[in-house]
Amino acid sequence: MAYRRIGLISLLDGVNDAALRYLLLHLNTLQSGFEFEFLSPHPEDPFLCEVAGGKTADRAAVREDCAHFKNLLMAHLRDQAVVFGTREDPPEHIVVLTGARFDDNFYSVRHSGVSVIALGNWKRWMAPPSVLEFALTLTIREAITTVSPIGSGAVLRGSVHLGTKGCPCDVTASLSDARQKALSSFLCAFCKQAVRDAGAAEVIPDIEAMLSKSWLGSADDPSSPAGVVSALGHDLFIVKGIRPTWWELIRTALRRDGAQQFLLLLQTTIGTILIAVLLLVLGLK
Ligand SMILES: [Zn+2]
Repeated sequence: MAYRRIGLISLLDGVNDAALRYLLLHLNTLQSGFEFEFLSPHPEDPFLCEVAGGKTADRAAVREDCAHFKNLLMAHLRDQAVVFGTREDPPEHIVVLTGARFDDNFYSVRHSGVSVIALGNWKRWMAPPSVLEFALTLTIREAITTVSPIGSGAVLRGSVHLGTKGCPCDVTASLSDARQKALSSFLCAFCKQAVRDAGAAEVIPDIEAMLSKSWLGSADDPSSPAGVVSALGHDLFIVKGIRPTWWELIRTALRRDGAQQFLLLLQTTIGTILIAVLLLVLGLK
């Protein structure tokens, strides 16, 4: 079966990168219609500097620069392939995940085989789902665009439907409105038909397999993806944002190590502080 390759670039500063990469690459094990891979762009790529985390980017300008960026990236990756003697061509579609925000508050732009997902407007109150789950769903949405051929019949490459159904192709202007599609695991009838019309009916089960969050499993099960992510230091069901808060770190430790061990750690820490204070007081006298 032919598969569609999606190259990923993460500019999400401060995120647990191992957890993000593990989750996105785990999509490869769930289906065979799409293949995701992380790319190493040039560290000083001007386009990526423009959309780096923390910045406010001009969305129209980013859209205009997508084609040039892709050309530069492809040239860089081909150079790297020569250096390392690798055989495979670079992927056709690129998804850039960034902590930047766009000036018009939209959260994504898509042009010339490049998608930029800007998560800079993500706020803690939008959880659940966590920011990593947003990144996961919005990446799957971009993978779906590759099903439609480029041209006038490219239904899935543009805005698909106004209604908020909990389908990844819901048109949601702001990131807060995208919650429903990140929470849901539903490919609507219209989008399924668009996939069939594009001659790619065989990938419908692949898309549904990726969208179903049941594959995450439980953080208490060390063999499940959620358990592996937890072992990597990011509990999907506790840590909401890019960086865990102190309270989230404590809750993660409680969940991972058990309350008893955590209380023992707390007891030891308090004991050490008390002894230090006592020694200081005695030393002063
Ligand atoms: Zn839909």
